[in-house]
Amino acid sequence: MAVTERLYYSDSHLIEFDARVVDVTDRVSGWIAIVLDRTAFYPTGGGQPSDTGTLNGARVVECIDDGDNGVLHVVQGMMASPGAVVRGRVDWSRRLDHMQQHTGQHILSQAFVNLFNAPTKSFRVLETSCEIDVHLNNPTTDIIERAVELANNVVWEDRAIGIRNVTSAEAAELPLRKEPARDGDLRLIEIEGFDLTPCGGTHAYRTGEVGMIAVRSWERAKGLTRIEFVGGMRAVADYRKVNRSAREVAALFSTGRDDAPQVAAQMVEEHKELNRRIRVLEELAAEVEAERLLADASEGVVVQVFDGRDAESLKKLARALIARPATVALLASRDKDTARLVFARSADALGDMSALMREACAMLEGRGGGKPELAQGGGKNVAKLDTALTHALTLLGRDS
Ligand SMILES: [Zn+2]
Repeated sequence: MAVTERLYYSDSHLIEFDARVVDVTDRVSGWIAIVLDRTAFYPTGGGQPSDTGTLNGARVVECIDDGDNGVLHVVQGMMASPGAVVRGRVDWSRRLDHMQQHTGQHILSQAFVNLFNAPTKSFRVLETSCEIDVHLNNPTTDIIERAVELANNVVWEDRAIGIRNVTSAEAAELPLRKEPARDGDLRLIEIEGFDLTPCGGTHAYRTGEVGMIAVRSWERAKGLTRIEFVGGMRAVADYRKVNRSAREVAALFSTGRDDAPQVAAQMVEEHKELNRRIRVLEELAAEVEAERLLADASEGVVVQVFDGRDAESLKKLARALIARPATVALLASRDKDTARLVFARSADALGDMSALMREACAMLEGRGGGKPELAQGGGKNVAKLDTALTHALTLLGRDS
């Protein structure tokens, strides 16, 4: 018989027990690992994290399965010698949480087998949710929801959950959901009329204890479907959270929670439509502005400096200008620490805008370039902007 009798095997709800210390080893400073002759503490394993609790009032922060050497209880601030009797107490809310997740997993995994012949490859209890990797090729909302519905029905039917200890020969005759991971005698978890699986974890007495099962999300991963789910109190916590976000989003749209997606979709459409209209209006504005600038220009050359105008807007104006014949536009905009330039000419006007731009940008300590008809650039020496434009005008052969 192994050093530690595992009380959690026969009763998952036993949280208080007395045991005798078998072995004590020093770990890193201040921490010791205690082996007991019996324990109700579940050690990390099978995707389920370890229990926590106390031994004679000292915190048990983790329990480690050391195989035939027993279960190590990692404790701080406790003196113990072999032979002493100690009282152990397992944190119930953590144990209940793990039982809800783990039992929920058995139910959900069997639901996928039952409905879609899709077995579970692996399972993990994470910080606030759980994951199963399922052999499912085509996850859709409908497929996932059908499995979740069946799983919850099994929860609410409050079926009994039993433990059967069998030999491997006996197990071979039974319809197990998954192959045993080891040889020898097996511990089977049986959900009445629904699921039979070898497992060493802690499970609910009845399926009703799981409360409910909800799937948060799923994604395809390495030929499997990774499904994130929550059971019991985690599902309630998740509902609270998701409901709060949904209500907050709805409040932004001044609507009810369940109407928010439709209202948000409408707003997105309106936003797109407004952007389309803004573009049209900008074109019109550029037309009008181009007319005004040309009215004041000499010999079809427009030189103009704006404050705080972006490159896109400058280009729009430049295009409106050079739509007229024999027109050159030397446009600029300045911010506190940036000067932007757009030079353009109509097809029948003379001048290499790209060459002009390179020279002007050199004076602004920046860079620029483009095509003979249209070029853009900029630099940080804003103070030189007027000089740079005058220089460009000179190069163009049209001194002002
Ligand atoms: Zn299990």
